[in-house]
Amino acid sequence: MPDPLTIDDALARIVENAQLLPAEHVTVAGATGRILREPATAQVDLPPFPSSAMDGFAVRASETPGELPIAYRVAAGVPPPGPLPPGAAAGISTGATVPAEADAVVPVEIVDDRGSHVVITDTAVVGQHVRPRGGDVSAGVTVVPAGSRLGAAQIGALAATGVAEVVCSIRPRVAVVATGSELRPAGAELAAGQIYESNRAMIAAVLARVNADVDVLPVVEDDADAHRQAIARGLESDVLVTSGGVSMGEHDLVRRVAADLGVREIFWGVAVKPGKPLSFGARDRTLVFGLPGNPVSSLVGAMVFVTPALLALQGARNSLPRYASGITSTPLRRNPHRDEFVRAVRVDYGEAVQLEPIVGQESHMIARAAAADALVHVPRGEGELEAGSLVRFLALD
Ligand code: AMP
Ligand code: MG
Repeated sequence: MPDPLTIDDALARIVENAQLLPAEHVTVAGATGRILREPATAQVDLPPFPSSAMDGFAVRASETPGELPIAYRVAAGVPPPGPLPPGAAAGISTGATVPAEADAVVPVEIVDDRGSHVVITDTAVVGQHVRPRGGDVSAGVTVVPAGSRLGAAQIGALAATGVAEVVCSIRPRVAVVATGSELRPAGAELAAGQIYESNRAMIAAVLARVNADVDVLPVVEDDADAHRQAIARGLESDVLVTSGGVSMGEHDLVRRVAADLGVREIFWGVAVKPGKPLSFGARDRTLVFGLPGNPVSSLVGAMVFVTPALLALQGARNSLPRYASGITSTPLRRNPHRDEFVRAVRVDYGEAVQLEPIVGQESHMIARAAAADALVHVPRGEGELEAGSLVRFLALD
């Protein structure tokens, strides 16, 4: 194996080889999680009219305190019958239009509503409890920039500003292939030497979070022809992810068969544990990831390397892994040669996020990993990170 790349160098090569996918129109309601490709602009001022932030009385601040006749009452959704007459107040609900010439709203809690008139004892300040037209955003202004992931706040902003449709990247088509003659599907009886196949569903679960349209292909035996068929089919997708068969064993056929089918290998080997023998290549626009078969290696590979590729293909502004930070509860031994991802339980103590490494960190221990909520990054180096050290982690969710 050549000298393994650092995680950052590997990510740089992955992102620079990702070619932008086409875009399509999507309804806002159906765009959750998608990557916006054209900026979305407000179709209206928000609020579209000066609106009341409280239930109460619209007044001229200069006419308070005082005892004012109630000219009319305005409910949300119905415009006031006219400007506020001089020397009067208007009853008003939250979200209703503040009448022209009123410049303040006095909350109902601090007045005495006598039916035909209202007694206001406090002096109102101009603008109080009035949301000016366009105070949130003006029509024509960008509400969500291109390259954004549409999360809940962005979906709300688009809907509120009258945007019905947006232009998003198409969802990347991802073929997932698992190799290994020992692998059996869930529900089958295991014969001697066999294990249940777990990586396809797991990789699909990771990539679904970044809009992958996953095509799960049948399990492939450790046989060159079977590999050829599956890899050829997978290469018709935008991304092909294989698991297993990328190490140095005589049954590790993935890289050789991929090369025979025209895949240009860009790197093989990353200084990361688990997951070192990861391979990455491309054929035309299709990106090809060979993840090592140990389930935790496949999980880390899909999260740390394949997820950024999918985001880059979709034009995301931030495609690199997004770490959060916390404090390790126990010392973490550093590996002199490789960065490590340690599975940990997240415990929130007051303001601090504490990360407690689980027992059972070997790369085949996917059942142990089920108890973890975080992949803690331990940079390579000498010695150990003491308990209490600040570390960064990726959420496992
Ligand atoms: P490999 O990368 O093919 O050498 O496989 C490494 C280890 O991971 C072996 O113990 C395999 O049995 C196991 N393994 C490979 N692929 C899968 C899979 N899809 N599901 C579960 N275990 C796997
Ligand atoms: Mg294998």
